[in-house]
Amino acid sequence: MISTSNNIKITEIETSRISEVDFNNLPFGKHFADYMFEMDYKDGAWQQATVVPFRNLSIHPATSALHYGQAIFEGLKATKNEADEILVFRPDMNAKRFNESAIRMCMQPVPEEMFLEGMRAVLKQNSAWVPSAEGQSLYIRPFMIATDEYVGIKASDNYKFLIICSPVGAYYSEPVKVKIEMEYTRAAEGGVGRAKAAGNYAASLYPAKKGLEEGYRQLIWTDAKTHTFIEEAGTMNVIFVIDDVIITPSEEKDTILKGITKRSVLEVARDWGYKVEERPIKVDEVIDAIKSNRLTDAFGAGTAATIAPISEIGYLGVDYKLPAVETRTFSNKLKEYINEYKLGLVEDKY
Ligand code: PMP
Repeated sequence: MISTSNNIKITEIETSRISEVDFNNLPFGKHFADYMFEMDYKDGAWQQATVVPFRNLSIHPATSALHYGQAIFEGLKATKNEADEILVFRPDMNAKRFNESAIRMCMQPVPEEMFLEGMRAVLKQNSAWVPSAEGQSLYIRPFMIATDEYVGIKASDNYKFLIICSPVGAYYSEPVKVKIEMEYTRAAEGGVGRAKAAGNYAASLYPAKKGLEEGYRQLIWTDAKTHTFIEEAGTMNVIFVIDDVIITPSEEKDTILKGITKRSVLEVARDWGYKVEERPIKVDEVIDAIKSNRLTDAFGAGTAATIAPISEIGYLGVDYKLPAVETRTFSNKLKEYINEYKLGLVEDKY
């Protein structure tokens, strides 16, 4: 059956695949919900918005995204509350960030309302896939690729925007041991670090693999020029509590992704009366604070884990143990608060 909702053309599935998925055992990003959103940009305009059965794409071998990397994405999560309503955390911020990425990568922005409408439509169709069990969610992955069928370096004239959804369980539940990366670089000033561009993640894989071989689950990137300032982790922004002040690298430089979880953490912290500083942070400042027991909390903030406590920091071959996770008043309280917020259990003010 074909139906239309808010100008979005919906093609219904014949049979759902949901019974093939074991929701008690959900690996991250392996299962995909029945429907996806799809919309093409061609002849200078966005074409018919559609929600269609999840399926493979058929693409020309010269598709420009495959060769020159004009590819961007977003990541957010949907959950269900007790009233069976679907909740998504601050999707307007993802829509804005998506378009900032699009502009930096010289791609066609997606009208914000279309991004949000498309997401609503695909979630409605995939409603049965949005879990309500604790820690589980439906991970939403909007992304855009350049689709010119042309081998030659130029900004593509054609794009494909899609939203796919994947049911997922809790992520990064264990405290993480991280390494301050002193050799490789994620992003340089003037580069594309602020964009959620596919290539940024490709570039991080080799250093991350080396880190893993040394026993570190995540890298904390430092500035490209001097490796003296902390930037962010692989898929999370980093936040420290030193002398009761919440400190995180500022977003002024274009090397750090403007994290939505981090922004929310800082807003909550300010509301709770904490002093918050967004400023450059030297690695030495963090190491000195650990040594003098002034660092009481350190964690990554991101959609995947919400709050991921950092248990140990490796720097120039020395591993520094951080205070026990149970003693961390700020991040423990915060994690509970944000998770309750995401389930609609606390006042909707952010
Ligand atoms: N930094 C990077 C590089 C990321 O990929 C992510 C995940 N989107 C984050 C930070 C955290 O951002 P958010 O809180 O919006 O998920």
